[in-house]
This record gives sequence, structure tokens and C-alpha cells, in this order.
Amino acid sequence: MTTLRPPWLEDAGLKTLLGALGAPTIDVRFVGGCVRDALLGRSAADFDIGTPEVPDKVIARLEAARITVVPTGIAHGTVTAVMEGRNVEITSLRRDVATDGRHATVAFTTDWKQDAARRDFTMNALSLTPTGDLFDYFKGASDARVGRLRFVGDPATRIREDHLRILRLFRFQACYGQKSISPALVEICKQHRELLRSVSAERVKQELAKFLSAPNPVLAMSAMLASDVFGVVLPECIGEQNLLKLVMAEHAYGIPPRWTVRLAAMLPESGVAPLGERLKLSNAENTELVQLTAPNPRIWLGMPRVALDAALYQSGRDLVLSRMVLAVAHGRQLGGWAPMASTVRQWSAKPLPISGDDVVALGIAPGPAVGAALKKAESAWIGSGFTASRDQLLAATKETAPGGGSGAV
Ligand code: ATP
Ligand code: MG
Repeated sequence: MTTLRPPWLEDAGLKTLLGALGAPTIDVRFVGGCVRDALLGRSAADFDIGTPEVPDKVIARLEAARITVVPTGIAHGTVTAVMEGRNVEITSLRRDVATDGRHATVAFTTDWKQDAARRDFTMNALSLTPTGDLFDYFKGASDARVGRLRFVGDPATRIREDHLRILRLFRFQACYGQKSISPALVEICKQHRELLRSVSAERVKQELAKFLSAPNPVLAMSAMLASDVFGVVLPECIGEQNLLKLVMAEHAYGIPPRWTVRLAAMLPESGVAPLGERLKLSNAENTELVQLTAPNPRIWLGMPRVALDAALYQSGRDLVLSRMVLAVAHGRQLGGWAPMASTVRQWSAKPLPISGDDVVALGIAPGPAVGAALKKAESAWIGSGFTASRDQLLAATKETAPGGGSGAV
């Protein structure tokens, strides 16, 4: 028996929870992502626990231990324990009775191997006891170590049971894959790609976001293109070359990846308007995508400093950095952007030191003229490299105001 002792096995809250669930008498174990990540030395973001007891029993035990419990997915045997600072999902062991590609009808079981058999990939089918014994029914530990995505059971069958698994394959490949997905498996995904039309836009988006958030999704992207899955879920996608250039630019210029920027790199430079609605993006995500693909601010290699300053002033540092890596992604020149990247990274907003009230005090009538005068002051401010003094700006504004700021209204 292999043992594994991630630091969180000593976590007091988790220990209390396991005790409340009946450990060590009841064979309660950690399952899924946290075990896989522990094996790979990665920290765990959230914890899933499996138990051979049915949900009613789980609820009764947690209530007796005064742990808040929410029946979040009771139909499939999941309840959530609300712990200090974190939620933990507890799922009763299950086997599938019937599947239709979208939903499964499950029956509870006490057999850990049956539960593992319904999980998607071997590396996701591991379980870990509270004392660190690792159960690995399908050789998932070695697959995780070498970065090989392998379905538990026959891939085509598993995909027909649940169509989302095609996207999960590419998502886990992006996050954990070190070996290419075999041509045979790519072909199976290709043959079944039309089934993805039954997957809701929300789930597609969720998987796409996780896929694009991986440190380097390019290899997985190539496999996804080879299987023509994008033809179904993102027909706008123009290929992996831009994504590759974007990822390289992120690395070269120390820019943290954002999935929305990566998405924008995969799209044509214009014409993504209906995407937000089709993928059911949140308002914030949609706004970001629109900003990322709008004609302005235009960023190009060798742009004059004053134009860069104007873009920074108007759009802020983060958007300009994103637009810069997108310009790299969409353009031909990969190198040469380093000085600009460091200028942008070091830039901090310097607000215009004069206000509308100052302009009115110069004798400009309240109304549209004030806005126009402020715009001119802004140009002078940007043109000075944000060094002009208040007095200089007031003087410049006065000069250009209608009537020369003589006080005439
Ligand atoms: P992440 O770190 O992204 O949360 P995870 O492995 O925890 O990774 P989840 O989507 O949270 O992934 O699912 C938890 C576990 O449930 C998986 O590890 C897998 O064992 C199982 N699972 C989830 N979705 C499916 C599915 N569609 N088919 C089969 N098993 C699944
Ligand atoms: Mg998870």
C-alpha cells in the first residue's frame, strides 16, 4: 500500500470533520482533485470527501457534531459541510444506474472500487484515507506522475455516458498533461464531437475558462483542434498559433495569464460580438472581452511614447498590458517588446492635476466648453509626460479657451 501524507491531513478542521463522519470506524476518504494534487506535490484548493454511508446518515452525523450542512446536490448524494473558512463536499459512494449523456441516475454503494470506476480519468479516481493510505484501483498514480490522461474504462463509452467529458479531457490535459493525447483518443473525441451540442453554454464556458487558465494550454489546444471540437463549441477559433505566441509573450514579459485575454487571442481581431451571449459570459467578462477586442487603444511595436502614454492614461495599465500581448499574438513580431513591457509595467496613473472647477474659475462657462477645455488640458498633460505643473496646465487651458479665457461668457 502506497502512503501519501500531504500537510493538510494534519489540518484540525478536516480531522474534526472526518471524525464527525465516523472515521476511523467508517471508511471515509479524500477523493478526486485534492488527492491527485497531493500526489503531484501541488497544494489543494478544495477538498472532496467520499463516504460509504448514505446522505441522510451523513446529514444526521454532521448535525449531531454541530457542523452546518447544506444539501447542495442531494439527488446525486452530495452534501456540503460549511466549515470555518472553507466548504467541503461530502459525497456518498455511487455507481451509475442509467446515463443519457447529460445526467446520471445513481445508486448508492459501499464499494469504493465501484465509486472509482464511475470517475472520469484514472488520475481523478484516487482516494486517500485519513491516515494516508492511497487507494489506486486503475493505476492512476503512475498516470498522474507521467502526465497521461487516461479514461477509466472504454473512452467512447465514457463519453457517451457524459458528453462533457470530452471537454474535461482537454481541460485536464492542459493542467496535467505531459504526454500527448493519443491519436486514437483524439479520433474518438472527433467522432463524438457533435454530442457537445447538448452541453449547456455555462458548462462549456466553465471548462473553457479552466482550460485557458492552465499555465500552458497550447499542447492541449492542438489536440482539441485536431479533434475539431472547436468547430462545435467555439467555431470562431482561428487556431493555436496566436495562443502560442500569447503564452510566450506572457512568459517573456512576466504578465500573469488571464483566460479572457487568451480567449481573445484565439478569436479574429474583430467580430466577436455575439460570443458573450452565446457563451453566457458574466457582465464583467463580457465587458472585458469587448475592451480586449475593441479597435482602441491600438498598441503597436515602436509606437511613440506619447501615444503609449495616452493609451495608458485612457485605458489603464492592465488593459494596455493585455492589449500589448494580444498585439504580439496577432502580429508577426514576437521579439522587441521588452522595453515597452517594462515601461507599461512600471507606469502608474497620474491624474490630471486640474478639475472642472478650476476651468470654470478661469472664466469658461459651465457646460460643454468645460469638457472640451479639460480634454485639451489632458492632451497637454499627456504631451508633457505627466510632468506639467498645475499652473502650466491652467495657462495652456486659458490660452486655448474660447475668448482666450478673458472672462467673457
Ligand atoms: P479541480 O481542481 O479542477 O476542481 P477536480 O478533480 O476536483 O479538479 P472536479 O470537477 O471538481 O475536478 O470534480 C471532482 C471529481 O469528481 C473529479 O476528480 C472526478 O473524480 C469526479 N468527476 C467530476 N466530474 C465528472 C464527470 N463528468 N465524470 C466523471 N467523474 C467526474
Ligand atoms: Mg474540485
